[in-house]
Amino acid sequence: MRRVGVILVAIAAFVLAGCGREGAPGAAPAEQLSYPVAQNVQVPGSATFAKIQQAGRIKMGVKNDQPGLGVQDPTTGQYTGFDIEIGRMIAAGLGVPADRIDYVVVPSAAREDAISRGDVDYYVGTYTINDNRKQRVGFAGPYYQAGQDLLVRADDPSITGPTTLQNKRVCSVTGSTPIQRVRQQNLTQPQNVVEFQNYSQCVDQLIANQVDAVTTDDAILKGFAAQDPQRLKVVGQVFSQEPYGVGVPRDDVAFRNKVNDLLQQAETDGTWQRIYDATLGKSGTPATPPAIQRY
Ligand code: GLU
Repeated sequence: MRRVGVILVAIAAFVLAGCGREGAPGAAPAEQLSYPVAQNVQVPGSATFAKIQQAGRIKMGVKNDQPGLGVQDPTTGQYTGFDIEIGRMIAAGLGVPADRIDYVVVPSAAREDAISRGDVDYYVGTYTINDNRKQRVGFAGPYYQAGQDLLVRADDPSITGPTTLQNKRVCSVTGSTPIQRVRQQNLTQPQNVVEFQNYSQCVDQLIANQVDAVTTDDAILKGFAAQDPQRLKVVGQVFSQEPYGVGVPRDDVAFRNKVNDLLQQAETDGTWQRIYDATLGKSGTPATPPAIQRY
């Protein structure tokens, strides 16, 4: 029944757009994923949605250096990845086509500020839902379940899990949950914790022998390892739960509910799976969506 609705919306979008690109059948590569743009959307009581409607555009907070999740191609400027597609699906569900999304790159440490100031309408970028962050922002989701892991040099047999990091130099990102865990659990000595704004900087340090491990979510680390399997490997001992949420303004409950509805629909009608298979799933690890947790 849902599928019929989706097809009807796709046909409507096809007719309105006057071209034949919407609703192409079959498994499409990441750059060809597209979503029917909803018409006459209303989100009563949502200041965020009112702002989007007024502008006719969405300001979407993203990462740009996380392979498989959120990457910007340096030559074409195009954004691709699982998080990006989730964000585009939400935009379409709010009535905003992909060419009316403005991408705002926000590093981990600046997310709560960017969302609460209104610099972004919502944020999709490996953003773990937790109570501490909920004091400043809201979360729709989760739309993916990740876990903290370690990235090491491919020829290093000495690091096999979180208890083998003593006296090792460990790199992670400012304001992230993994760096907090490294410190709280004393996984290595405080002077051995190295901190940057972006994970790609940590990976450069690892390749240059300046650090011995990069720690963050397995989903992020697998993307880096896949790009350079000769030099990098993921240890594969997950030691936390990192449920990914869409960051939204804290007090806009109507908007949070709407994003939850769109995530729920994508998980039910197969869109989530289509997005996963075309992006993160290309690494070969199968996944299913976690249950949405409304609050
Ligand atoms: N998911 C973790 C977090 O939200 C690590 C990834 C990131 O920094 O974006 O802190």
